[in-house]
Amino acid sequence: MLKKGYSQTQEHRQKIRQAYNRLDYKPTQKTKDKISISVLGEKNHNWKGGTKLLAAQIRNLSKYRTWKKSVFKRDDRKCQECKSDYRVSVHHKKSLSQLIQDNNIKTVEDAIQCAELWDMSLGQVLCENCHDRVDVNFHKIGINKKVDFVNINN
Ligand SMILES: [Zn+2]
Ligand SMILES: [Zn+2]
Repeated sequence: MLKKGYSQTQEHRQKIRQAYNRLDYKPTQKTKDKISISVLGEKNHNWKGGTKLLAAQIRNLSKYRTWKKSVFKRDDRKCQECKSDYRVSVHHKKSLSQLIQDNNIKTVEDAIQCAELWDMSLGQVLCENCHDRVDVNFHKIGINKKVDFVNINN
């Protein structure tokens, strides 16, 4: 009896020590990033935060920059509403978040493979004023990105 009680106590102490060790465990930043990305991925993909993150990643793709340049070239770098060439940028007639949702895009790889995303007919050059009028998100994106008024000549 006594012996058994003693060993139980030992075992109990060991468990407490293990619990403390676990409490001391601090994941590195890299691990934290991995955890949050996997959480974003597994959650409902319509979740706003996940879509926003993915949209930002897509905007950073070189394929996206190439797509924009092609639209600039096709539209002769002029606003398709008023023909101004002052502070023009490329507008997506269908928003990125809508494209992500409609095509069930969950990763950057999905995005690269998605034909509709790279459909040039969905792109349109607009000047700052017209863009602001047509696109409710333009102002918001502009502030976050300091607006990429791409110079097609560079
Ligand atoms: Zn315009
Ligand atoms: Zn736009």
